[in-house]
Amino acid sequence: MRVGLAPPNSPNMTSIPVREHTLDLIGNTPLVRLEGASAEAGCDIYGKCEFTNPGASVKDRAALYIIRDAEARGELKPGGTVVEGTAGNTGIGIALVANALGYRTIIVMPDNQSQEKMQTIRALGAELVTVPPTKYADCNHFQHVSRRMAEEIDGAIWAGQFDNTANRKAHIETTAKELWEQLEGRIDGFTCAAGTGGTIAGVGMGLKEFDENVTIALTDPHGAALYNYFAHGELKAEGSSVAEGIGQGRITGNLEGAPIDTQFRVSDEEGLSWVERLLREEGLSLGLSSGINVAGAVALGKQLVAEGRDNPRVATILCDTGFRYLSTLYNPEWLKAKGLPVFDWLQSGD
Ligand code: PMP
Repeated sequence: MRVGLAPPNSPNMTSIPVREHTLDLIGNTPLVRLEGASAEAGCDIYGKCEFTNPGASVKDRAALYIIRDAEARGELKPGGTVVEGTAGNTGIGIALVANALGYRTIIVMPDNQSQEKMQTIRALGAELVTVPPTKYADCNHFQHVSRRMAEEIDGAIWAGQFDNTANRKAHIETTAKELWEQLEGRIDGFTCAAGTGGTIAGVGMGLKEFDENVTIALTDPHGAALYNYFAHGELKAEGSSVAEGIGQGRITGNLEGAPIDTQFRVSDEEGLSWVERLLREEGLSLGLSSGINVAGAVALGKQLVAEGRDNPRVATILCDTGFRYLSTLYNPEWLKAKGLPVFDWLQSGD
């Protein structure tokens, strides 16, 4: 006898629909109330679980929209190649979407990003080219190298996630809509950090279409220039950060016209303390950009409470999984070498 299984059509049967195609697994991610962050902020803080995407990051959404847009414009044809420069997560997203649609992938990545991301890109069958990390103005910056490669290869397109607004369109049409529906139309604030800016701009624009009173806040890591831009009108970077995938020094095509109402700056130490708390107290394994986002969401929640908003609800993005950073954020030697605090349990070796 099979015990504990509900009979067919019983009210206990799952309502999760069967997906017809693996690409339908992208998006529609769960939203979770973050207990510790909510207690700290004095209001409800929610995290969008983007690590549940098939490529385990928020960037699967942009990858799908960029590739579908290139197909629709007739630029990407059957058997073609997608070339992109990325900190890694977009490369993973592009490789899996390209596999599902029959395209080849070439990814150019700075060699200071996590080994796990490089291994994942190779494991997905993409060609990986690594370059030394340089400033954007340098012609050997990963974005310029990838653009030149795409120009030289027959049948190749350059995804160009930083300035290609198919990226933020993914967040206007999917992430913002999902947040609005999941919170049943009651959301007071949204914040996240910017890499390409696709998420903050797209979710910001999408939420403002539903309700212009939603406060959109940029959370910037140290070493990025956007905090000063939105606070003082000057693109000026101060300090540095080891966070991967975020930290922008220019107004990308995706950031143009982003509806930013306010801004916060968060240190790696503060972001890491949230990574640690979320793991220890709530069992969520996340990367540093997620920790920085949660710190920003707590700051925004406190600000909205101080402004007298009634029980405000703030959402942020849990961008990717901590398992992508076992060799860095969860490695005591690496943390020590970067002058960062080591989580207690890593310290004692349990
Ligand atoms: N966090 C991580 C881990 C990322 O890889 C990225 C994308 N580079 C971001 C946050 C930022 O997302 P966006 O590019 O949409 O600004």
